[in-house]
Amino acid sequence: MTALTLTNINKSFGSVEVLKDINLTVDDGEFVVFVGPSGCGKSTLLRVIAGLEDATSGTVSIGGDVVNNVPPAKRGIAMVFQSYALYPHLSVRDNMALGLKQEKQPKSVIDERVGKAVQMLDLNDYIDRRPSDLSGGQRQRVAIGRAIVREPKLFLFDEPLSNLDAALRMNTRIEIAELHRTLSASMIYVTHDQTEAMTLADKIVVLRDGRVEQVGSPMELYNNPANRFVAGFLGSPA
Ligand code: ADP
Ligand code: MG
Repeated sequence: MTALTLTNINKSFGSVEVLKDINLTVDDGEFVVFVGPSGCGKSTLLRVIAGLEDATSGTVSIGGDVVNNVPPAKRGIAMVFQSYALYPHLSVRDNMALGLKQEKQPKSVIDERVGKAVQMLDLNDYIDRRPSDLSGGQRQRVAIGRAIVREPKLFLFDEPLSNLDAALRMNTRIEIAELHRTLSASMIYVTHDQTEAMTLADKIVVLRDGRVEQVGSPMELYNNPANRFVAGFLGSPA
């Protein structure tokens, strides 16, 4: 089954074309990484998939259904941002529960899912704290927990680790890989970091100036980069 299909996606802001004829599929359970230089359209593409931006043309299909007119909360996806985007006045528990409350889930479901995510992310000691009392790594785990409790079919991560120091980046990367195995959900993950791309991805999508430059497994791109641009990101140094 296909988790996501993008067909001829274009996106302009005014006269500026940011996404140009993007075609892409993500299979069920697949871990897909987007790489490309700053400003090439990675975040915009995630936002179009999430429904936070409308495509200028083209279709977004999730689980086989065209969702162009479906609001973000009903797309069966959850997004994790670089900036965490937590509510400062809410506890860890309430930050994680908020989306489920908005979905009008019963308290028993909310408690069960939040409890499970807290366990999974090792946040037991922090559930009553506010985000300001947490480290960057803990905040990002709360943001990941907030996504997990929604039980999405598709996770979108926008450079989730780039505000963390090197050691935490590695730990959190390993946690995300474990989550991917445990949850058997599809994931799309934007990063600048070659190690993250090579270790997490089933499939890497190299974007350049709003277009897909090359798609392949980490080894395919490493061994056979289509051009020097791709090689610059992922190719072997030879
Ligand atoms: P990336 O995430 O790869 O760094 P973005 O998707 O954030 O790139 O941005 C791609 C291009 O689209 C940039 O030139 C950016 O300035 C432009 N852009 C993004 N969002 C908007 C917006 N809301 N209005 C106008 N231009 C935008
Ligand atoms: Mg971005």
